[in-house]
Amino acid sequence: MKKRVLITGGAGFLGSHLCDKFISEDYEVIAMDNLITGDLKNIQHLFKLPEFEFYHHDVTKFVHIPGKVDYILHFASPASPIDYLKIPIQTLKVGSLGTHNLLGLAREKNARILIASTSEVYGDPLIHPQTEEYYGNVNTIGPRGVYDEAKRFQESITMAYHRFHGVETRIARIFNTYGPRMRLNDGRVIPAFIGQALRGEDLTVFGDGMQTRSFCYVDDEVEGLYRLLLSDYTLPVNIGNPEEITILDFAKEIVKLTGTEQKIVFKPLPQDDPMQREPDITKAKEILGWEPKISREEGMKKTFEYFKNLSKEELFKSEH
Ligand code: UDP
Repeated sequence: MKKRVLITGGAGFLGSHLCDKFISEDYEVIAMDNLITGDLKNIQHLFKLPEFEFYHHDVTKFVHIPGKVDYILHFASPASPIDYLKIPIQTLKVGSLGTHNLLGLAREKNARILIASTSEVYGDPLIHPQTEEYYGNVNTIGPRGVYDEAKRFQESITMAYHRFHGVETRIARIFNTYGPRMRLNDGRVIPAFIGQALRGEDLTVFGDGMQTRSFCYVDDEVEGLYRLLLSDYTLPVNIGNPEEITILDFAKEIVKLTGTEQKIVFKPLPQDDPMQREPDITKAKEILGWEPKISREEGMKKTFEYFKNLSKEELFKSEH
């Protein structure tokens, strides 16, 4: 009998790629999404499959699934800084109430649950690269605090359900991930820069561009998450690509990649924007036998192909 997996945020960027992965590994997949930031077009190719189901549901409300559930992956959440500034209360609720509901479901179904945590639990980190032992440096009342603290609470309640109720839990700390199906207007740096290049606009670098990020291609990320789910390790694991770059150098790479002649302009740095970010992935290597395989050059080519093929209407549509 096939294993049955529930993926919340299943119509989102990471969630939809996880749906594809589990379908290809011969699971039955239930995607759940309230479609606030997710999009059905990310999973429309799955609707014809008998092993795929979609529930239009908000996980902050009671979650009921008839029948067995073997695995739960909780990936529902706004995930870009401008999204969580726009919908701060939903961001807090999906990480807290949503996680509580899903842990309850995991308990009821005797299912294993993996929660999508984040490098944002480290805040603006004072150690570099970030290891899982680092407790973080988060401004609880800053504008990003709604996401960071929801995810920190999520980790705490997950460990409590594990320790107190014996629920099988896994915690992935996901670092910046990119690839096809990112929302063009979600404000994150990759869709922002590519969208600007394609529309013939200047690329907007925030601050002096000396802040760093480390970008992981989605296929690598999904493979790491899959391995973590099937491992027996219950403490948090960083899943990301340790290749670090400054945002200014990255903007220059994108100008080269897109073959456009765009100017780079500087805009104010958003409050609490972390100055550096790079995962220490020693644990993922040792425990999961995993490390990223796809270079930024290769991953960015695939990502650019995806955005290039969007319609003019999508390219110029502004949500904000
Ligand atoms: N950024 C930028 N220009 C943009 C969008 C983002 O310079 O148009 C910067 C942002 O200030 C941050 C980095 O790019 O330092 C990554 O931002 P993103 O929103 O993708 O994710 P974060 O890692 O901050 O959650």
